[in-house]
Amino acid sequence: MIERTLFSDEHRMFRDSVRRFMEHEVVPHHERWEDQGYVDREVWRKAGAQGLLCSSMPEEYGGAGADKLYSIVVMEEVARANATGLGFGLHSEIVAPYILHYGSEEQKRRYLPKMATGETIGAIAMSEPAAGSDLQGIRTTAIRKGDVYVLNGSKTFITNGWHTDLVIVVAKTRPDAGAKGTSLLLVEQGMKGFGKGKRLKKVGMKAQDTSELFFDDVEVPAANVLGAENQGFVYLMQELPWERLQIAIGAVENAQAAIDWTVAYVQERKVFGTTVASFQNTRFKLAELQTEVQIARVFVDRCIELHAEKRLDMRTAAMAKLWTTELQHRVLDDCLQFHGGYGYMWEFPIARAWADARVHRIYAGTHAIMREIIARGL
Ligand SMILES: Cc1cc2nc3c(=O)[nH]c(=O)nc-3n(C[C@H](O)[C@H](O)[C@H](O)COP(=O)(O)OP(=O)(O)OC[C@H]3O[C@@H](n4cnc5c(N)ncnc54)[C@H](O)[C@@H]3O)c2cc1C
Repeated sequence: MIERTLFSDEHRMFRDSVRRFMEHEVVPHHERWEDQGYVDREVWRKAGAQGLLCSSMPEEYGGAGADKLYSIVVMEEVARANATGLGFGLHSEIVAPYILHYGSEEQKRRYLPKMATGETIGAIAMSEPAAGSDLQGIRTTAIRKGDVYVLNGSKTFITNGWHTDLVIVVAKTRPDAGAKGTSLLLVEQGMKGFGKGKRLKKVGMKAQDTSELFFDDVEVPAANVLGAENQGFVYLMQELPWERLQIAIGAVENAQAAIDWTVAYVQERKVFGTTVASFQNTRFKLAELQTEVQIARVFVDRCIELHAEKRLDMRTAAMAKLWTTELQHRVLDDCLQFHGGYGYMWEFPIARAWADARVHRIYAGTHAIMREIIARGL
């Protein structure tokens, strides 16, 4: 295998500690969390105490002040354990960076330290019942009245939505101006008129508290606008490549984990007096999948470098998400097949991973949208 050159010995030590955290604090509880439909809030605080949340956030805002690779280590270890109930990535590397990049000093000091400890759980609400891919079609409005914006509308499919204490809500502040009239608002749990709907029952990711959110005449202080009014769409476009790369990072790690589980399984499983691993079909297919995952790893590692150099463009990130999640799907499907009937049983990690991964080709922009972005530049 090609040696990964991104990580130092310090990163590797950190990886060991994250892996231990997953083994002790997450994996033994995940099935129970799947049954209840959400992770225990306690795991957020424990992760915060271990430096697993907002790792790359500057120390002055409560983070560890570490480089992005530490956050990537957390993402990879969560993906490796297939601990899909944990919305850490979205919290630490999507919601927190919006506040860091566009927030006022007051907003940063108010929200980020509590996000780093896990006291505050973050979410971002773009999608609505009638608008997902077509974000310009959102209907949620935030109309300025004196010192407040009056927020009305509803959002759906929101990751961390049920636990959340702080949501970045995408709303139209100038409903007649399309993308140019869109703003981001920081909405806090407890604001009058902000309600949470049911936790949504999903095909996979059953421990993830994905929810609906409702806003009924919520009076959001004008000071809670994130960045400049009506610039929301610009900010979304700036952050999306990193969001999509994160999905690619998780997809590659998860695919590698699936190959590792499967190699172990086929060496044990006996059929017709021999192991499943002894068949050429098994060995050749796994060899092909491993080859592709290795290629994906090199591409994604290069994208990580480009992101660090602030040169990761929209199209390259779309290619990374498109191709790695497609690959992840094929790897999981073939690996499930090698498990026979056990591959279809929820108690086997491969079954869960297969169901959980389906959404990767849907959220943060569907495959069609990724193709559209790539095609536009041809
Ligand atoms: C588990 C889960 C978690 C999520 N978490 C969040 C979250 O935290 N925050 C958030 O805001 N959203 C979240 N989402 C929403 C997600 O981003 C949207 O579901 C996604 O963007 C697709 O939007 P849609 O569901 O409205 O599908 P639609 O936009 O209705 O798409 C339907 C179909 O039409 C296709 N299509 C759409 N436009 C085009 C086009 N131009 N050309 C060709 N085909 C097209 C799509 O590819 C798709 O196949 C989550 C979704 C899920 C399932």
